[in-house]
Amino acid sequence: MEPRTLTGKLVIASHNPGKVGEIADLVAPYGLAVVSAGELGLPEPEETGTSFAANAELKALAAAIGADLPALADDSGLVVHALGGAPGIYSARWAGPQRDFRLAMARVERELAEAGGDDRRAAFVCALALAWPDGNVEVYEGRVDGSLSFPPRGTRGFGYDPIFVPEGDARTFGEMPPAEKHAISHRARAFAQLKRRLDEAA
Ligand code: IMP
Repeated sequence: MEPRTLTGKLVIASHNPGKVGEIADLVAPYGLAVVSAGELGLPEPEETGTSFAANAELKALAAAIGADLPALADDSGLVVHALGGAPGIYSARWAGPQRDFRLAMARVERELAEAGGDDRRAAFVCALALAWPDGNVEVYEGRVDGSLSFPPRGTRGFGYDPIFVPEGDARTFGEMPPAEKHAISHRARAFAQLKRRLDEAA
């Protein structure tokens, strides 16, 4: 089947202005104008999926159907091997209502020690879903593998960046200049796939 074309307006199923701006920059060369779910007053659906892809899909579909326009959503998080994939889709929730990632990183360290502590493997994963109002959805997934290091190091980035050391580097994402992180991150890899898709349909 020919890839579906994408023209005109694209809804970004996010209420986070930082994310919306980043995506707007990415799709601008394809002549796509971006409008956020927040600007359209669309409600945020409950993230009831059991995977990054499922949550990205349900957010993108809700926005596409609500706005009657194609919509893009993402879902991402930290996957820790020795913790059976936790915090995974609960990565934001582990930081509590105050979004305190020192707490979340301390919990990862504690649970890792309880699990034996030898296996430090982890990955950041990002799923991007592109949905149409008729229910069609495409999902692109990117990941970056690495290991965890304690105590947290670096003041750059956000979330779990200060404990994540990507493969092939000795620095945490928290210590890396943003351009270096963005060249290899899970989000960049998922977006690279979306870009290939947009190039095909252009
Ligand atoms: P969401 O996809 O916006 O719901 O984000 C999920 C959570 O995953 C974030 O709140 C962060 O805790 C974590 N996360 C996702 N991407 C990154 C990253 O690049 N660095 C650090 N933490 C991340």
